[in-house]
This record gives sequence, structure tokens and C-alpha cells, in this order.
Amino acid sequence: MRTISIFILVLFLGGLGCANDAATEKRAEKAIPVPVAQVSQVETAYLLGKFDPTKHPSFVAVGKPYTDKPGMYLHQETFEAFKKMFAAAQKDKINLKIISSTRTFQQQKQIWEGKWTRFAKDAPGAEQRARKILEYSAMPGTSRHHWGTDIDLNDLNNPAFKKGGKYASTYDWLQQHASAFGFCQPYTAKGPERPQGYEEERWHWSYTPLAGDLLSQYLQTIKNEMITGFQGAETATKIDAVTHFVAGINQNCKQK
Ligand SMILES: [Zn+2]
Repeated sequence: MRTISIFILVLFLGGLGCANDAATEKRAEKAIPVPVAQVSQVETAYLLGKFDPTKHPSFVAVGKPYTDKPGMYLHQETFEAFKKMFAAAQKDKINLKIISSTRTFQQQKQIWEGKWTRFAKDAPGAEQRARKILEYSAMPGTSRHHWGTDIDLNDLNNPAFKKGGKYASTYDWLQQHASAFGFCQPYTAKGPERPQGYEEERWHWSYTPLAGDLLSQYLQTIKNEMITGFQGAETATKIDAVTHFVAGINQNCKQK
């Protein structure tokens, strides 16, 4: 069922200004099924964040009270689940605020290239610099934020969520209750269970029922050589960004 809905989502995407849309529209008019190769091209664009969430039929705008920031979009299934979790948290006097949601390839590219420039002095070598950025930021095309399934909550600092921190009780609440709403923390502390990937991010939560499927599709479809179009992209293959970072998540967040 999930695969079917993602398939439909991908088909929708074909008519929304991605690659080959003229050809897709022509086929849609004649009601000829889209060939598999073309579907996978559109699907690839979605997985890499190369689409416009403001125009995507499966995406919805997120406003107050869920976020104070403009321009926040999520996949509608993620948002429905989040609203339920938000309401339950409110009852327990916990305020969940979305501070980042869907980010496109272009938005991730801005974040990445900003750090690429800032870290030039401390990390002159390309691979060294990429690894420094990868402590907390994804390469464009490899972020879970592309999928509309992942959110950052309240604060981008781990200490705020630890004992004595402003959001310690928020984090305790999420650890106890988020899974009941389908959410999990993909970037838990690194250790034997999660030896590779980004550093711990207590603010980043993912809607597993959707993201689990998308991760499986991503790992079947996207190769390191396809991660291109930004400064330092040549390091993706050397670092094996797909295996070590996209797949380097908390096992509980993977498809069951
Ligand atoms: Zn995040």
C-alpha cells in the first residue's frame, strides 16, 4: 500500500515541472502508462530534493501554532501525525515547535556551500572539509529533510535537550511518546549501534512510516556518483556518503 502511494506521489511529481514534464504530460493526456524508466527518473528527483514542495500535491504548508517560521512544508502524512503528537504533548505541557522541515536540494546547497566557504581555512583539503561539514549537515541530495518526513524541533543544540537544559523535559517526553505517533530520532549518539553518520541530533525527528520506505527506495536508487551539483561534491564517492551518512541512522528508524 505504501509503495503504491509513493508510486502515485511520484507520478504526480511528473506533471509538476520536473525533468521531462512535457513528455509526461503528453502521455498523461493519452492515458498511456508512464514507462518504468521515466517513473524512476521522477522518483530520483524527489529523493534528491529536486522538486518544489510549495507546488507538490502531497505537501502542505505548516503554520502556527506548529511553527513560528514562514515557508515550512511537510508531506501531508507527516503533518497529520505531527499534529496528533503536538496535541498530546500540549496536554502534558510540552511545546513542540518545528524550526526546520522540508528543505530542497537548492536550500541544502546554500547551507552546504556556506559552510564550505566558512570552513576553508580550518579544513583546506576537500575531503577533510566535507567531513567537518558532515558532522551536522548533509550534502545536497542526501538529506532526509528533502523527503518531507523529517523535522527539527525547538533548538539546534544538544545541551538544550540534556539534563538541566531548557528542553530536557521535551526530550524525555519525545523519547517516551514519539514512537506512538510514528516518530523516531534517526541521529542518536554514535556508538556500537550506530558507528557511522552524523553526530547526535536530539532535535531531529523523523516520521518512520513514510521515511522507512523512502530510505529503502533511496538506497536502491541513488548512487554516490549521482550526488553532484555543489562545491565539494567530488568527495561523495570517496566518503561513501550514501552508505555512511544516508544509511547511518538509528536502526529503530529503518523499515521494519
Ligand atoms: Zn534536521
